Amino acid sequence: MSPGVETTDILIVGAGLSGVGAACQLRHECPDKSVIVLEARDTIGGTWDLFRYPGIRSDSDMFTLGYRFRPWTDPKAIADGPSILRYIHDAAQEFDVDKLIRLNHRVVNANWDSITARWTVEVHRTDTDELVTVSCSFLYICTGYYRYDEGFSPKFPGVEQYERRHGPVIHPQHWPEDLDYRGKRVVVIGSGATAVTLVPTLAESAAHVTMLQRSPTYVASRPASDAIADRLREWLPQTLAYAIVRWKNALQGIATFNLSRRRPELMKRMLRKAAVKQLPEGYAVDTHFAPSYNPWDQRMCLVPDGDLFTAIRDGRASVATDRIDTFTESGIRLQSGAELEADIVISATGLNLLAIGGMRLEVDGRTVDLSKTVSYKGMMLSGVPNFAWTIGYTNASWTLKADLVAEYVCRLLKHMDENGYAAVTPDATGATAVNPFLDLASGYVKRSLAELPKQGDQAPWRLHQNYVKDVRLLRRGPIDDGVVFTPAVSVTDDRARSIA
Ligand SMILES: Cc1cc2nc3c(=O)[nH]c(=O)nc-3n(C[C@H](O)[C@H](O)[C@H](O)COP(=O)(O)OP(=O)(O)OC[C@H]3O[C@@H](n4cnc5c(N)ncnc54)[C@H](O)[C@@H]3O)c2cc1C
Repeated sequence: MSPGVETTDILIVGAGLSGVGAACQLRHECPDKSVIVLEARDTIGGTWDLFRYPGIRSDSDMFTLGYRFRPWTDPKAIADGPSILRYIHDAAQEFDVDKLIRLNHRVVNANWDSITARWTVEVHRTDTDELVTVSCSFLYICTGYYRYDEGFSPKFPGVEQYERRHGPVIHPQHWPEDLDYRGKRVVVIGSGATAVTLVPTLAESAAHVTMLQRSPTYVASRPASDAIADRLREWLPQTLAYAIVRWKNALQGIATFNLSRRRPELMKRMLRKAAVKQLPEGYAVDTHFAPSYNPWDQRMCLVPDGDLFTAIRDGRASVATDRIDTFTESGIRLQSGAELEADIVISATGLNLLAIGGMRLEVDGRTVDLSKTVSYKGMMLSGVPNFAWTIGYTNASWTLKADLVAEYVCRLLKHMDENGYAAVTPDATGATAVNPFLDLASGYVKRSLAELPKQGDQAPWRLHQNYVKDVRLLRRGPIDDGVVFTPAVSVTDDRARSIA
């Protein structure tokens, strides 16, 4: 090993919810392995630290967004951003993972060398501007799924004349700390999770908030606290109550998703009926809350205790379903000819998808083109040795999958040690890579699909998006299907030959 190169068994990239969770599990399950976690930012928490807009919260319940191994004990089932961030910090501390994390370390390149069976990872230190190198035998990517430096902002016509008078259109990913929206007329462009979170929160003190959407999204109301969970927590030990509620909610999510796929018309009717009940009499539900696609073809928006509907009912917020013709000096002119006056415009138009944290991946000096790889069990890539990648569910809480990936990595490492293997490589020979990696029709997914790995039509190449199936596959399924193991002894022989 070259001098100055730090070495570790496992290198985790990213210290968000997934990276911290993975490090906790590795510490617990594989205490003999050395672990380093590299984080590009100057703090941990990822998403739950980056987003600072008012009302930031989870839109899935914390019993499934929390780690399997660490009960969520807060009474709120739908939690605010700061509580989730605290939970991540507490987990890092409890499992002594905080000591393994190097902040301000952005991974830019990783090259696998088959002769030494190791990754050489190049890292840019964002604090000192140095390039440093880390060598590891297993590379574990927990970099989330989107760009941190900029959100997705379409170029709106005429926006300059609006900005000259009122200041910049704001993206929720870069929320100005001192933005005073009290008593102001606010327009929020978008209809996704961020828009439906922002609108009721801003409406508490703004003069009025308009949610301007090009097309509607399904919005379902859900109690902010979980009555069954509250009961169980009174009667049962905390860990048992948590495990039961976690399964209950995971199964409930699967049932709702399956019903949406099998009986979309029934689901549409149920969602419409629930919306009608919460909106003012005679409200144009079919214009503003009845999308043209089927439920769960795009991610559904959940609102705690129907807060969005309450804000509309109280007249503090409204919805405009229309297209932007142009920004004007005083607001936005719509294609219908209507004008929205606005003191503040927020562009909640989404994220820019980014695979593997923007780093370059090489195997023996050849760049890996992700779009040519096939995803193995939704967590490894064909032809890429000793590598795992956490991508959570799109139809359920991210952590349900992230936890299973970490469990699998621990199983795999133990299996390799027990059998004297130095490397494991998914081999997609014979697999048919027919489907895109993600089957969501959301704009941000469609914009990037061509750059992502493919998935096959059968296990272990098929991405399930289903917790029960993944528990069977990842927790209990075989560990040697569809992969090639390289014995450590053959790596040592190759290394000796290459030196000679
Ligand atoms: C506003 C918002 C709300 C959400 N709400 C929910 C929800 O309610 N339920 C749900 O299931 N999901 C939700 N999600 C998805 C959410 O991202 C996941 O739940 C979860 O936080 C992902 O955790 P992560 O650690 O995998 O990724 P992230 O939170 O994105 O963290 C990734 C970390 O990796 C670091 N990183 C990236 N690239 C590099 C690199 N090259 N080198 C070093 N470090 C790097 C980043 O700086 C970051 O700290 C939400 C997402 C957003 C944006």
